[in-house]
Amino acid sequence: MEFDVVIVGAGPAGLSAACRIMQLATEKEQEITVCVVEKGSEVGAHILSGAVLEPRAMDELFPDWKERGAPLSIAVSEDKFFFYTGATSAIKIPNFFIPKPTHNEGNYIVSLGNVCRWLAEQAEGMGVEVYPGFAAAEVLYHEDGCVKGIATGDMGISESGEHKDSYMPGMELHAKYTLFAEGCRGHLGKQLMEKFALDKDSDPQHYGIGIKEIWEIPAEQHQPGLVVHGLGWPLQESGSSGGAFLYHAENQQVYIGFITDLNYSNPHVNPFQEFQRWKHHPETAKYLSGGTRLSYGARALTKGGINSLPRMHFPGGLLIGCDAGTLNSVKIKGNHTAMKSGMLAAETVVEALAAGADAPADLAAFASNMEQSWLHEELYTTRNFSGFMHKFGTLLGAGMVWIDQNIFGGRLPFTLHDRKPDYAVMKPAAECKKIDYPTPDNKLSFDRLSSVFISNTNHEEDQPCHLTLKDDSVPISVNLPQWDEPAQRYCPAGVYEIIEEESGPRFQINGQNCVHCKTCDIKDPSQNIVWVTPEGLGGPNYPNM
Ligand SMILES: Cc1cc2nc3c(=O)[nH]c(=O)nc-3n(C[C@H](O)[C@H](O)[C@H](O)COP(=O)(O)OP(=O)(O)OC[C@H]3O[C@@H](n4cnc5c(N)ncnc54)[C@H](O)[C@@H]3O)c2cc1C
Ligand code: SF4
Repeated sequence: MEFDVVIVGAGPAGLSAACRIMQLATEKEQEITVCVVEKGSEVGAHILSGAVLEPRAMDELFPDWKERGAPLSIAVSEDKFFFYTGATSAIKIPNFFIPKPTHNEGNYIVSLGNVCRWLAEQAEGMGVEVYPGFAAAEVLYHEDGCVKGIATGDMGISESGEHKDSYMPGMELHAKYTLFAEGCRGHLGKQLMEKFALDKDSDPQHYGIGIKEIWEIPAEQHQPGLVVHGLGWPLQESGSSGGAFLYHAENQQVYIGFITDLNYSNPHVNPFQEFQRWKHHPETAKYLSGGTRLSYGARALTKGGINSLPRMHFPGGLLIGCDAGTLNSVKIKGNHTAMKSGMLAAETVVEALAAGADAPADLAAFASNMEQSWLHEELYTTRNFSGFMHKFGTLLGAGMVWIDQNIFGGRLPFTLHDRKPDYAVMKPAAECKKIDYPTPDNKLSFDRLSSVFISNTNHEEDQPCHLTLKDDSVPISVNLPQWDEPAQRYCPAGVYEIIEEESGPRFQINGQNCVHCKTCDIKDPSQNIVWVTPEGLGGPNYPNM
């Protein structure tokens, strides 16, 4: 199928690009065909975010979003920031000591899944073709190496590679320009980065794994609009970093989540268990006790900022949103920046199509459009966040960030780099302290399998495993003795297990449970695990993450 523009991924970046292209096409009376493919069973099914949304990009894209019924109904009413000093103690940090960009006045607590559903409706209303249930499995190239489009994966292939009765070959979608908006650690984005050496001048990307639950809590404990953030315990016990959030949304729901920075070095760290522990802290438990857990999910996020941002343009396409890494790491907000990158991509593509340039061309104009935008300014002035936190640790690092942001406005005359990829910092297991995680009480804390159950994750069972190993022997022969195979612990869905058998330990992959967070692809210290797209429709089915 031929289109002017094909977009991979119906997240905020991809859908904002689609909407903006159609708006510009109408303004300029240009006819432009746009198609969006999404691997989730519906738009929003694979979307997971906090989320406090900064409405800047939304205001630009749809100044009348309120009248159009955008699901931004809960305005932030209060911000609280804690430093958890231990399992039962915490210090509330006065607002004055919070870095300015993390203040949330004027922002909204949203379900990003629902915002994306709404954006998809707007896009379809303007003529965009949105295809959920189709995973882009392969990048297609012209003979001269320019991107020609994508191929969706075949459906109905058995585990042994044979065609089943349900076999349906994948489709080739050709486009003058293809926008890759797969989100953090995109499977095709990773390949493009390698093919076009997009990251040759940038620092390695840095990541966090975010695990989130939605709870319904008693009315007297619910304060719509309250935003709580925290740092410190329990991660500080293992010398790791990250943070927690608790957002009071609508309908007596709270969105709670926990981000573990993936540059942790102790292989015994289990991000899922750290999150479960944190829920028992009195400052968290006071909101959750008596409540019911409704939903669970996990997703990695990019946090390297502008230092880790690769070149985003290449012949025939662009990498946008968190597929490139546009998240503002001081704010831990990537939705408005992903949207803006999509809008800038749209403006660049429409200009190129109008100029009638021989497509596919390298959309180098994107770089200057980006540089002149508030997106660049925002990412530039927060460029030292990861450097400060990684070099100086949580407390001192946060102090440096405060000085940088509140006194110098992000304009300190130097740039800190962290050139060590997250997978390369793991210490040998024997040198690190084991962590004794408590048994779940099934009231506030739970185990992984019952958690995955409420993520509504499903994969067609008889299909090739989408968690591939470059070398089958590596996890056992290298990872097990060295790092006690950390995949057993960092996977928030319990996909990886070491099974003790008479013949010795065996590495087992329970691929059906995968919630598509991408942590294994990022953190595996031997970089042996490669996440590829499973059949479309597979994966979690999040209601309102
Ligand atoms: C725990 C957590 C909390 C966060 N909190 C906040 C917050 O409070 N505020 C904020 O602004 N930001 C927050 N973020 C960051 C924010 O969610 C991301 O920056 C944002 O979602 C990035 O948007 P995106 O469109 O680039 O990618 P995504 O939102 O990840 O969307 C990508 C879409 O592409 C689809 N896709 C991927 N690969 C393929 C493929 N090959 N074929 C077809 N479809 C594909 C995916 O299924 C998905 O629907 C948070 C992130 C996490 C993980
Ligand atoms: S297998 Fe990998 S991508 Fe899937 S849930 Fe586990 S860590 Fe995440």
